[in-house]
Amino acid sequence: MDQNMNNNKANANTNYGTNIRALFAQMDNILIRGQLSYYDFLYMGFDELKKMSVHERNLLKHIKLNPFKTEFEPEPDQRFFFRMLEAKVNSDESVLLLSVALPYPRQRAEVSKSKGFIEGSSWYYDYHTILRARMNQILVMFSEIGRDAVKESGCFVDTSDYIDRELAFLCGLGNYGKNQMLIHPDLGTQFHIGHLYIILEERMDPLLSKMESEIELDGRRLYSGCQNCDKCVKACPAEICGTIQMNRLECISYLTQTKKTLTFEEMKMMRNKLYGCDICQNVCPTNLTQNKSGVNSLNIDHWQLNDFEGIELLETLKLSQSAFKRQYGDRGFAWRGVKVFKRNALIAMGNSGDNIFYEKLKMFSELKEDDFLKSYYEYALRETKPD
Ligand code: SF4
Ligand code: SF4
Repeated sequence: MDQNMNNNKANANTNYGTNIRALFAQMDNILIRGQLSYYDFLYMGFDELKKMSVHERNLLKHIKLNPFKTEFEPEPDQRFFFRMLEAKVNSDESVLLLSVALPYPRQRAEVSKSKGFIEGSSWYYDYHTILRARMNQILVMFSEIGRDAVKESGCFVDTSDYIDRELAFLCGLGNYGKNQMLIHPDLGTQFHIGHLYIILEERMDPLLSKMESEIELDGRRLYSGCQNCDKCVKACPAEICGTIQMNRLECISYLTQTKKTLTFEEMKMMRNKLYGCDICQNVCPTNLTQNKSGVNSLNIDHWQLNDFEGIELLETLKLSQSAFKRQYGDRGFAWRGVKVFKRNALIAMGNSGDNIFYEKLKMFSELKEDDFLKSYYEYALRETKPD
């Protein structure tokens, strides 16, 4: 836990009513019991909330001008989180916003190029489900302790209405790296983010000092270890790390998810990736030294799956939508559905250049009739055809 956090706690413990004080005093305990050991928070009065709204409006204007917006991001004017809170909170109330980190294990398996690869961040059980369940459990505990002081509470993870990474930054969970990921001092970049908010029917004083310095756009801080490091910049196949405005439309992780028509160069860049790309995270020194206590929180049932051995590419072509759901429905990558999975498998087969696929692919000639898959089927045949 960082110094800021301790300062915040010291302040938090001295100025509130009984219920709020009890809530703050037990925060660590509750979050650890709820299996969320890594968190940081903002505690905002009415005036601070207004400041955050201004920050949010400026940030969203900035995002609106970004030419590299993907189809997975909602329009900026649909993403007002602090404005939503502002509308709910009275001048004699306050808001506790908690940002929590759920670490995930690295995908360490070596997989041959004739098998498909799924990154650790998506191979394991769907973190949305895990995080939501744990956060809901925590909200129940908070409500019991805060009793009359809690007016309203809620949690969200990746709902897209909010800019989760930015909220986590504002809460102090980490700083931005050159790979645009948030870097937590203990966990590196390999964690999923969730948020809880609690509207409290009490106002605190003094306000947390942390609020004063970190809400300017220019205050977006680079992780200090990036100053003398270019590992992600050099490793990124798309050459987009380290740029001020990352071109996410060329990011391999995005390419494995989008349904837009992929170019030859994009397909080549995807190699054997069926979902995600963590190259810029895997080379990052902050992950190579991933905190040992972080590993403890990974050793829980939710993550315990058999070692990843790669996906048999031809097998994916046999999957119906229902078989895909049965086999992978609880995994992080399943939301994109079987068609995109098959598309990526065809590209991976093509990229392997392995002649062994050629004759076998002919058994799936029905793919020639599939509007979405036919060009990728032809690509796989062309690239694996013996000379
Ligand atoms: S690899 Fe180096 S430059 Fe890139 S995010 Fe990590 S520390 Fe920063
Ligand atoms: S995920 Fe892959 S393509 Fe995207 S920035 Fe990182 S290394 Fe580059």
